[in-house]
Amino acid sequence: MTDCKKHDSHDHVHGPGCGHQAIEHDGHVDYLHDGHLHHAHDGHYDEHTIAVSETNPDACTPDHRCGGHEEGHVHGPGCGHEAVPHGDHIDYLVDGHLHHVHGDHCDDHGPVKLVSS
Ligand SMILES: [Zn+2]
Ligand SMILES: [Zn+2]
Ligand SMILES: [Zn+2]
Ligand SMILES: [Zn+2]
Ligand SMILES: [Zn+2]
Ligand SMILES: [Zn+2]
Ligand SMILES: [Zn+2]
Repeated sequence: MTDCKKHDSHDHVHGPGCGHQAIEHDGHVDYLHDGHLHHAHDGHYDEHTIAVSETNPDACTPDHRCGGHEEGHVHGPGCGHEAVPHGDHIDYLVDGHLHHVHGDHCDDHGPVKLVSS
């Protein structure tokens, strides 16, 4: 299914307590790291992407009320939320949900399972 997209020269080892948010993805655990989803694989890290699915649709939800952050919060680098690769775009992790910046609102692209470390 997924081909092996290798992350070059990664000198950090992800694991419980490493400081990166771990999430459950397709039955395994990945780590969010600078907007990448890292999966330990055979001595290197693969880049994973959350697939667009029924659970995580790629849809506009203009009626979504952004709980978890103030209304008018604009996601972006350094906004305080983790960036998560989803389909062909980047979402932000808010309270276990994927938020997608869309015009003046956030789309809700579904839940992800957080793994506490
Ligand atoms: Zn990476
Ligand atoms: Zn880490
Ligand atoms: Zn994965
Ligand atoms: Zn939208
Ligand atoms: Zn944000
Ligand atoms: Zn949002
Ligand atoms: Zn998305």
